[in-house]
Amino acid sequence: MAKDFLQGCQDYYDVIVIGSGLAGMTTANILGRAGHRVLLLEQHYKFGGLATWFRRPKSHIFDISLHGFPAGMLKSCRRYWNQEIADNIVQLKNIRFDNPMFSLTTTFNREDFTRLLTSDFGVPAESVRDFFDAARNMNFYDDQSMTTGQLFEKYFPGREDVVRLLMEPITYANGSTLEDPAITYGIVFSNFMAKGVYIYEGGTDDLIGKMHAELKKNGVDCRINCDVSKIEVGRQGIESVVVNGRTIRCGSVISNSNLNATVFQLVGEEKFDPQFVDQARQVRLNNSSTQVYMAMKEGVEIDESTGDLLFSSTAPLFRTEALLSPNITSRTFSFYYPRTRPDARKRGHAIVSSTNANFSDWEHLDASEYEAQKQDLIETTLNALEKYVPNVRDKIDHVEAATPRTFQHYTKHLSGASFGTKFEGLAVSRALPEQVPGLYHAGSVGIIMSGWLGAINYGVIVANDVDQFLMKSQAM
Ligand SMILES: Cc1cc2nc3c(=O)[nH]c(=O)nc-3n(C[C@H](O)[C@H](O)[C@H](O)COP(=O)(O)OP(=O)(O)OC[C@H]3O[C@@H](n4cnc5c(N)ncnc54)[C@H](O)[C@@H]3O)c2cc1C
Repeated sequence: MAKDFLQGCQDYYDVIVIGSGLAGMTTANILGRAGHRVLLLEQHYKFGGLATWFRRPKSHIFDISLHGFPAGMLKSCRRYWNQEIADNIVQLKNIRFDNPMFSLTTTFNREDFTRLLTSDFGVPAESVRDFFDAARNMNFYDDQSMTTGQLFEKYFPGREDVVRLLMEPITYANGSTLEDPAITYGIVFSNFMAKGVYIYEGGTDDLIGKMHAELKKNGVDCRINCDVSKIEVGRQGIESVVVNGRTIRCGSVISNSNLNATVFQLVGEEKFDPQFVDQARQVRLNNSSTQVYMAMKEGVEIDESTGDLLFSSTAPLFRTEALLSPNITSRTFSFYYPRTRPDARKRGHAIVSSTNANFSDWEHLDASEYEAQKQDLIETTLNALEKYVPNVRDKIDHVEAATPRTFQHYTKHLSGASFGTKFEGLAVSRALPEQVPGLYHAGSVGIIMSGWLGAINYGVIVANDVDQFLMKSQAM
């Protein structure tokens, strides 16, 4: 008989959280800690969402989205998770760029970028200072008409090399482009520039294991292999969810599922005002990604001067279309040394190559075309890596690739979106409870609220909203 993953579940919870991405888990943790009865439902067989990993024979282990985040994670993890998790967050100091316009290594903070921009790129110090101040002072309520491209043109007119240095890493960090509102760039860029790039030492498996333990400690009922097919809404608002064929009643729902999937699949457009449905239809998904995972043979050492994060490109200029093209010219390589994954020495270093991609370039391939394109992705990535790790093919023990289809399959993000939705998704996500009392969304939206830090911090905001909603409805 099939296993019942809901065995022992209650008939009613104050909150049901759909999805265990970092935003979903953070909302569940805060609300569980506050004493609410919380059920966390994850359709996959692991918690973590895109914050995930996988193992292969000979103890190889690969992290999917552990490449770097701003120092703000330290505070968020300490406050909303625990000190033990925060203690594992460490800085990555060798951030490297290599492209036809420049080659350099940086600690990726304001001080070092100021040095580079003034001395290596020859930009006047006042322009650099004014740019940093403008980016740092941006906030959500600002005028959103200026694009990131216009912001660069204002401070660094005609400087394509400067734009590349400033933009390429952020495009990788949140999928934003020169055409997106400048605040989506300014907020994320300033977060990084405050103190540099950080990583979780010990790997995603360790992080998610510790988060799961904390959730259990705070009384959250956590379930894997539980696919929510419907959020049921009555006259007064949220009533229940349907999961694995069973209906469980609840006072509120936080969906960590993709925003568009939440509105159009889980709830259904008939439950919203037509005007809201129109607004939701305008929400564009963010792009997807491809990755190549490479494990080195035991005993192969990679010199740490190769970099922790290496933004490599062979494209002559920085262009959004080139970053998304199936003819890949840009790759971000993450190197996992024993320092960043202390248990790596036992099994050899790992390297993960990431590239932004369009779902549409992979969507319609038949099985043999798909396999051929995946193999091409692997071969061209190894060719590109050869420059930084000579004779790499002789050193590799295991290699495989993931595509936008892989991301869609494991997370149910429509079109395998890596960073949820474009900017307009944020307003739709925030407006859900006005449409359906008790219905909330927490997860990658609007470019700003994505990435590990953005997802956690958005989870905090939504948890506070839900806490207030529950207090009010329980007092009635
Ligand atoms: C290749 C790649 C590299 C990245 N690198 C970085 C990085 O270096 N630094 C960084 O900060 N960010 C990075 N990111 C982005 C970051 O991983 C995400 O923004 C963040 O983890 C998303 O968290 P989330 O809470 O929005 O939910 P997600 O991680 O998207 O999780 C949503 C969860 O909901 C579950 N779910 C969906 N529908 C249902 C349903 N119907 N029933 C039950 N469960 C459901 C899914 O299975 C999933 O577990 C990267 C992303 C990708 C794809």
